[in-house]
Amino acid sequence: MDVNGAPAGAPPAAGAVLRISEVLGPITALGPGRRLGVWVQGCPLACAGCMSRHTWDPRGGRDVPVTRLAGLWQDALADGYDGLTVSGGEPLAQPAALTAFLALADRVRREAGRPDADLLVYTGWEEAEIAASPVAGEALRLADAVVTGRYRAGEPTSLVWRGSANQRLLPRTPLGRRRYGPHLERSAERPELQVRVTDEAVHVIGVPRPGELSALERDLAARGVTFRENTWRP
Ligand code: SF4
Repeated sequence: MDVNGAPAGAPPAAGAVLRISEVLGPITALGPGRRLGVWVQGCPLACAGCMSRHTWDPRGGRDVPVTRLAGLWQDALADGYDGLTVSGGEPLAQPAALTAFLALADRVRREAGRPDADLLVYTGWEEAEIAASPVAGEALRLADAVVTGRYRAGEPTSLVWRGSANQRLLPRTPLGRRRYGPHLERSAERPELQVRVTDEAVHVIGVPRPGELSALERDLAARGVTFRENTWRP
């Protein structure tokens, strides 16, 4: 991927900057198919048991112009990716930048002749909170599907792509209904987890069940891989 690339003819909203923690692709454990994953930085919700505590601090991560992220999305589509997943962190903590990014992402997929490539957003906001906020509604206007709700460690679930039983997978567009409709009540015996290793970190992508991260840590330790720190313990 060209991390500096931007799609041609970016619209005025393209001046926006999204504070992010990470961009990885392809990811296969947060939505259907091969996807580009963008994790935003900053979350004020502080769910007990959150596996992504490193994304809480809004001063962490780095600022990235949405044009650059849209360039990555353009490259991903050229590579045959099936969708974009925005997670976090809390995407709705940056509503203006999220609005601009999804507007660009929508434009890029249409100009690339890939209107079938879906946009999925994870948020800790509850459905009712989104419904009560015109700003949040506008930010999610172009999302084909949204996973909503705080993570509750005491309510495990086997439903795909959700971390706890209270979380809802909500299709919002015709594409979202086609793509996510068959998965709304689908359970998996085991959640799909993806492990990506970079120079600096081991990234566990997906929604693990209680105890699975500790088991993974023990397994890696048995193979001689130990962590200086991890993101799922205070
Ligand atoms: S689970 Fe999601 S909403 Fe909850 S604290 Fe972690 S990043 Fe924030």
